[in-house]
Amino acid sequence: ELPPAKGDIRFENVVFEYEPGRRALKGLNLDVSAGQSIALVGHTGSGKSTIINLLCRFYDVTSGSITIDGHDIRDVSLNSLRSQVGIVLQDTFIFSGTIRDNIRFGRLNATDEEVEQAAKAVRAHDFIAKLPSGYDTEVQERGNVLSMGQRQLISFARALLADPRILILDEATASIDTETELKIQEALKTLLKGRTSFIIAHRLSTIRGADNIVVMDHGELMEMGDHSQL
Ligand code: ATP
Ligand code: MG
Repeated sequence: ELPPAKGDIRFENVVFEYEPGRRALKGLNLDVSAGQSIALVGHTGSGKSTIINLLCRFYDVTSGSITIDGHDIRDVSLNSLRSQVGIVLQDTFIFSGTIRDNIRFGRLNATDEEVEQAAKAVRAHDFIAKLPSGYDTEVQERGNVLSMGQRQLISFARALLADPRILILDEATASIDTETELKIQEALKTLLKGRTSFIIAHRLSTIRGADNIVVMDHGELMEMGDHSQL
């Protein structure tokens, strides 16, 4: 069991191979203090998703270690790890059901009021309220009731409701209109506040807003610093 996390994360000499002999990470050292946001950038295949896959324990490190508040993540149950590490993936997951259910998926015992509060906090409430049946509007997994930007806001509301100490975000690359883009930036600030976060960032505004930018290249950390330093 992982005690309620503060959210200090340390990668120590992490090597990872999906296939024997091919290193996707070549000895990564990275120290992230609780509450810090890290933007992961780098070319395709540089290791960004791998970092996230390991932190969520979709795979175990080949060698080295990853610790959260000093606890090796291999020593904690997957349940307790996943209850403290929230993920918002690029291909924002919307299932067939009402918008309310989609948001409540973050915390199944949340009340209607809590669902709405979360939606308001990430500025999703206004567009939801305008839908034919509001929060009870039925959406489809692959349907087009919602735009990409709206899907993203709903996934933010869901993550906010789950309230994990550590948040992982694979930012959507889909083009969205300027107004939604601004909303997403605002929502992101709300969502990241007080959490340790790793963001695979595609938008310059997101990269600028991060406390630290980690530049990956061929499985190695090339540079690290804030936007003014890089
Ligand atoms: P992108 O920007 O394209 O998402 P990335 O920085 O996330 O790239 P990774 O997915 O971490 O890159 O990939 C790092 C290396 O590991 C690459 O060489 C990639 O080909 C390899 N790799 C990634 N996933 C797998 C997998 N499931 N099986 C085998 N090799 C993989
Ligand atoms: Mg990737």
